[in-house]
Amino acid sequence: MEQPHELRFKGLGVSEGIVVGQVLRMHDGSRHVYHWRINVADLEAERLRFSSAVQLALQQVTAIKKQAEKRMGKDHAYIFDAHVLLLEDEKLTGDIERQITDQRANAEWAVEVVGDRLLSLYSEIKDDYLRERGSDIEDVMQRLLVALSGVRPQHRSLSEDAVIVAQDLLPSAVAELDLEHARALATDTGGWTSHTAILARGIGIPAVVGLRDFYRSTRTGDKIIVDSTRNEVILHPSADTLARYHAESASRMKPRGAGSAMVSGPVRTLDGVEVTMRANVEVPAEFDGVERFGAQGVGLYRSEFLLARRGVAVSEQEQQLAYEEVARIAGDDGVIIRLFDLGGENLREQFQEPEKNPALGLRAIRFGLRNEEVMRTQVRAILLAAANARLKVVLPMVADVSDIKRCKSIIQQEADNLTKAGRAFGEVSVGAMIEVPSAVLMAENIAKIVDFFELGTNDLVQYTLAVDRGNDGVADWFRTLHPSVLHSIDRSLKAAFSAGIPAIVCGEMASTPAYAVLLIGLGATDLSMTPTALPRVRLALAGIDSRDARAIAADCLNCETADDVENIVRERFGKLWPHLFSAKDLPERRQTDSKNN
Ligand code: PEP
Ligand code: MG
Repeated sequence: MEQPHELRFKGLGVSEGIVVGQVLRMHDGSRHVYHWRINVADLEAERLRFSSAVQLALQQVTAIKKQAEKRMGKDHAYIFDAHVLLLEDEKLTGDIERQITDQRANAEWAVEVVGDRLLSLYSEIKDDYLRERGSDIEDVMQRLLVALSGVRPQHRSLSEDAVIVAQDLLPSAVAELDLEHARALATDTGGWTSHTAILARGIGIPAVVGLRDFYRSTRTGDKIIVDSTRNEVILHPSADTLARYHAESASRMKPRGAGSAMVSGPVRTLDGVEVTMRANVEVPAEFDGVERFGAQGVGLYRSEFLLARRGVAVSEQEQQLAYEEVARIAGDDGVIIRLFDLGGENLREQFQEPEKNPALGLRAIRFGLRNEEVMRTQVRAILLAAANARLKVVLPMVADVSDIKRCKSIIQQEADNLTKAGRAFGEVSVGAMIEVPSAVLMAENIAKIVDFFELGTNDLVQYTLAVDRGNDGVADWFRTLHPSVLHSIDRSLKAAFSAGIPAIVCGEMASTPAYAVLLIGLGATDLSMTPTALPRVRLALAGIDSRDARAIAADCLNCETADDVENIVRERFGKLWPHLFSAKDLPERRQTDSKNN
């Protein structure tokens, strides 16, 4: 066969590194169940197809149960017994087989119909515990559907050189992938703070996003080079290109996870300002970075991941286990669990009717307040886990005090119910994510009714500047160092400190050494970041005097444009700290900079 021509695609390198590997295409993860009529002669084969799916699902659950036993102990793995029981329940499988026979329906349709019927029965049950078993049914039904589709769902194990290529890396796909073995990511959409970018940096693999029409040009198994340093991917690289890259990568590629932490705990600037260094985590592949890179616990646990594979009906018990596990990883410094941040960038594709404007739609805390049962289940799971673990809760994307008051009253009611039921639980502090302009403008009021602030700079940039963080078409307008963003941070920090509450900055700004210095200049002393970023941010902060950072930040606050701020940062950082920041660590001079033209 003729060797295809080498093709280069330009994008945005969002996680450093170069990888030569093989394409693994990810579909969009959605599953649609269609109905078709089965010929009488084929009914027996259809029933057989169904019973094989049941066997496959049983094997999978048993394997997962074993894995869970190893990771969490026997006491915790018993929840999978419910799944085994359901799959072995002859009444249930009999009903599905009858549906196939009587309606001459395909097995998928029969599973959907019988599953829905059972689920609606469960949803009417008064008892909370029993009602929640509905999520087990949903899970088992999903598993059967996947088994019928012939796709193996659980942790597709990847070849050693798999480069994941997708239009947009959906959380559902992430949940099913064995990301520990992924070598790199390449996606059509996305920007610096998109989900894919954050994930790639979190697990420490190279990524190029915003590649536009790349996905449809690929086939699984194609040879590929992902070169984030040059913001590009090369499909079907020629022998010459490959030879050049092999030589280059041998000299510069660090093994995965290199740069392990020499130190842990807080960092001190040269003038003695202590900065707390926490980790942001989402997927289990990031967990070991918390200890390895010396984080002081988990400052942001993006809990939506739990829903990626299972839908919103993840049971209280299963969530409790997950929160206990993150708490174990975080140790004495504890974990801040963000209530499900659904919609917008996160899992928008799975839980909502398509919205015209998802970033401004029913997302984050709005989703929880509209779907109270989902929020209440999560709150109960957190309170129960807090009986033996250091946990706090943070509310995503609150607009003002009314969102917070409604959430706090739900939290209080759930705590009261647990007391009445005699179940052991722990009280939790409640914080507010400050990530939309209304919250910034009302920060003084919000600070009076919460225990802490968390500044989500990714969304703060997006909403302050009205620039979609995942849309590469407007990436040039996504200016983290825009003066309006700096003023918002300044104002929020001041509001927190004058109310006497702590403020953690947890957006990607905190993961970027030069930006982290500017945050210190604005008064931040508590940062939460991608675990792999901890060593570099630590190094930068340990090498600066916070008074210099303050002086620079004050000048930046007086700027008119993002270009002006970036110029100041580039020039002053370059002069003061050439040993800490090379040109590539500082904002690039832009074509748009009027002073440049
Ligand atoms: C943020 O918005 O900055 C943030 C930390 O949360 P996420 O990136 O998950 O929206
Ligand atoms: Mg956010």
